Parts: sequence; structure tokens; C-alpha cells
Amino acid sequence: MLKRKMLMNWSWPLKIAREVEVTRLYPEVMMELPDAERGLHELDATKCIGCASCARVCPNSCIEMVPYRYGNPLKNKKMQYPQIDYGRCMFCGLCVDECPAECLKMGKKVTMAGWERDEIVRGPEKIAVKKFSEKEEQALEAEAKRIAAEKAAAKKAAAKEGAKKPGAAGAAGANNKAAKKKTAPAGEGAPASKASGKPSEKTAGAAAEEAKAEANPKVGGAT
Ligand code: SF4
Ligand code: SF4
Repeated sequence: MLKRKMLMNWSWPLKIAREVEVTRLYPEVMMELPDAERGLHELDATKCIGCASCARVCPNSCIEMVPYRYGNPLKNKKMQYPQIDYGRCMFCGLCVDECPAECLKMGKKVTMAGWERDEIVRGPEKIAVKKFSEKEEQALEAEAKRIAAEKAAAKKAAAKEGAKKPGAAGAAGANNKAAKKKTAPAGEGAPASKASGKPSEKTAGAAAEEAKAEANPKVGGAT
């Protein structure tokens, strides 16, 4: 009887251990993360405009803009994308909040262990979850070049047209003269007579009248 009881006491923990999962085989089996979990960043390279707002706002200066091939040259002319140093990142999410193109997100992956320091510095090639293929990239580059060439040609044509217009130079000269006149100092704008030191006709007449009045106080005096 005692033996039977002892066997029963030993058997139930074994039974429970078989039914209940007491541990996980990490990293093959990950635990479920809450919705609010902030994991490693995810970048949509097809939308990123390379504005570097994420790098500027980062309080730990862990974002650096680096070149990357598989983005959109029509939106991101310099083809610069964020690279994140996870040795410094505190997962505050400010970079995500600041992104104007909404192409940077906090993902659900949390594993970032590595043997070397460089392994925790992740460039766009590692954080990009969406990017263009080689073929798409070539087509976009050709399109960007075509648009740039069109713009340059239009600018050149506009400059030629402006140079050809008759009186364009004269009008510009007149405008310059008018501007100079407006900004000239008070002395320069004075009448020529004053400038040359000779009194004008009007002022000479007035002086003669005054002299006459002084010599003969009756004339022009109070009646
Ligand atoms: S989560 Fe915070 S610390 Fe990490 S890169 Fe973004 S802004 Fe910087
Ligand atoms: S990820 Fe967003 S904030 Fe950062 S460079 Fe790209 S568009 Fe700008």
C-alpha cells in the first residue's frame, strides 16, 4: 500500500511535466511580445526621402545617414538612408515619431546579439524590410536621369530666351539707375546750383529783396 502511494506521488509531477510547457527552446521558440513592444527598427526604403530628421532628433546620436542602392532616387536624390547603432539605442521611438514619410517603424524582432561590435550597427541593408529590386532600381535611376536632363534643358532654354529679349539689358540698366537714385545720400540729390556753390535765381532774388528792406525800412515795413 505504501509503495503504491509513493509511486503515485512520483508519477503526477512527471505527468504534468509532459503536458505543461515549462520552458521554451530560445532562440528557436520566442515568447509572444506585447503590442506595445519596441523592437529593432524596420525601414521602408521605397518611401524614405533621406531627410535625416530621424538622425537629428535621436537623443543618443545613434543614427547616421549612409548610402544605399535600393531606395527610390526620385524621392531620395542623395540616396542616403539611416544606419542605427544598437549599442547606443534606448528604443525611445522618437525617430519613428519624427519621420515625415512614415517609413521607419519599431518592429517586433528583439534579437541583436553578435560577436563583434559592428554586428550591432545595422545599416539600411539590414533594417530595410521593403526595398526595390536591381531591375526596378535601374529603371528608377534612368527615370531620375531623364527628369534631371529635361530640367537642365528647360533652364538653358529659359536663360537663352531671357538673353534674346530686346531691351532686356536697357530695362535692367534703368532699374539699376532708379535704385541708385533712391538709395543715394541726401547731398547727392541736392540742386546743381547748390552743389556748384552758386545761389539759384530764386534764392538770389529773395536775398536782394531782404537787402532792400534792410536799407529802407519803410519799404515793405508795417503800414
Ligand atoms: S529609438 Fe531613440 S535612441 Fe534609438 S535610434 Fe530612435 S531616437 Fe535614437
Ligand atoms: S527614415 Fe524617415 S526621418 Fe529618417 S531619413 Fe528616411 S524619411 Fe527621413
